[in-house]
Amino acid sequence: MKGAALTAPFFCPRCPRLRGKMAAMSLIILDTCVNCDVCEPVCPNKAISLGEVYYEINPDLCTECVGHFDVPQCVEVCPVECIPGDPDRVESREQLMLKYEHLMAKAAS
Ligand code: SF4
Ligand code: SF4
Repeated sequence: MKGAALTAPFFCPRCPRLRGKMAAMSLIILDTCVNCDVCEPVCPNKAISLGEVYYEINPDLCTECVGHFDVPQCVEVCPVECIPGDPDRVESREQLMLKYEHLMAKAAS
C-alpha cells in the first residue's frame, strides 16, 4: 500500500506515551517523504529502498528494529516524521521478534 492511500488512524512510533501500550507493527513511509536518503543506511534489516517515487519499507523485513535497537532507527533520523506504524500490518512484539530471528537465521545460512 502506498503512503498516499493511508487513511486509517496510525500511531507515531516516536511517541513515548504510547510506546509499549499499543500493538507493534511494521512501519510505512508516507508520500511526504522528501527522499533525503538518511533512513536507508540506518535500517539494520535492509528493509528500506527507493521506490518508484519515494522510499519504501518492505514489511516482510521490517521488525520495527526489534532485536537490534530499542527504537525504530528510521523514525529517529527522518527529518519530516513521515514514518508511522502501518495499521494494515499489526504485529505483536513477539511476532516481530520471531521475524527478527527468522531474518538472522536466513542471513547466517
Ligand atoms: Fe528498518 Fe527499523 Fe525502520 Fe523497520 S523500523 S524499516 S527495521 S529501520
Ligand atoms: Fe524519506 Fe524520511 Fe527516509 Fe528521508 S528519512 S528518505 S524523508 S522516509
